[in-house]
Amino acid sequence: MSRPISRTFAALLLAVSPLAFFPFNESHAQETDRFANVEIKAEPLAEGVAVLFGAGGNIGVSYGPDGTVLIDDQFAPLTPKIQAAIAGLGAEPVTYLINTHWHGDHSGGNENFGKAGALIMAHDHVRERMLGVQKSGRGNDPASAAEGLPTVTYHDGLKLHLNGDEVQVKHMKHGHTDGDSVIFWKKANVVHMGDLFFNKLSLPFIDLDSGGNARGVLAAAEKVLTMVNDETKIIPGHGPMATRADLIAYRDMMKTVIGAVEKAQGEGKSLEQVQAMKPAAQWDINPDAFIKGDAFVEAVYKSLKKPDHAEDHAH
Ligand SMILES: [Zn+2]
Ligand SMILES: [Zn+2]
Repeated sequence: MSRPISRTFAALLLAVSPLAFFPFNESHAQETDRFANVEIKAEPLAEGVAVLFGAGGNIGVSYGPDGTVLIDDQFAPLTPKIQAAIAGLGAEPVTYLINTHWHGDHSGGNENFGKAGALIMAHDHVRERMLGVQKSGRGNDPASAAEGLPTVTYHDGLKLHLNGDEVQVKHMKHGHTDGDSVIFWKKANVVHMGDLFFNKLSLPFIDLDSGGNARGVLAAAEKVLTMVNDETKIIPGHGPMATRADLIAYRDMMKTVIGAVEKAQGEGKSLEQVQAMKPAAQWDINPDAFIKGDAFVEAVYKSLKKPDHAEDHAH
């Protein structure tokens, strides 16, 4: 039954696009078919900065005389449409590509863009995971082709100085995965949070199999809140554009659920008992959500059983 189940799951994701999150192990023809009707929509955010919505993780674009920077690239069959949307902005082909993390709905186009000449950058752990078969709670991907691998990697982050702006790339530890980056355009006042932030569509997905941890998701939200103001345009990994107020609500949700689960664990409650308490009920409001209350509570419960990496600087 594993194949029919994964096909149903895939079909469901496509049905609620742009909630299509994950790589699927299917033939190229079927994959191309599935994405045939996906439209890539561009929304300008500031001078030389735009967001692209399609199927998979939201894409950030920075463009101007010094080149085009792409943040994430969705699924491989969408590359020509993404390239067309970039050209539609008046931007040159992609010079630099940054992956917010390894998941295939954010890095599926890497091989195409790498072959087209883009320099790919990501956190050390993204490259490490893409070198082998990538296992995740919700999908597996084969090892990446060499052209799809990040060739510039970093531990804490890096800065790009181009197109009249400073683009800060900061690693956030053990959140959605163990290789998450947040990208901040200083002058344009835009931030891309990758899957550390699911805006409105679903409760967060915390990929424990990829080193994710609920505490890190909360810490990342706290950190980004120190960097933004009421005018900041926040690109979530999935969902519509967000504001500081949306991120505050998300941070508060994470804090509340983590607090409730921590307290219940302290009282010796089992996972099933904590799930029965429904600590995330008030946010579990979308019946089509990718992550529902019980799955989210399970991820939080298991996160809190793991060591706290917040102070872990060893590498
Ligand atoms: Zn994603
Ligand atoms: Zn992800």
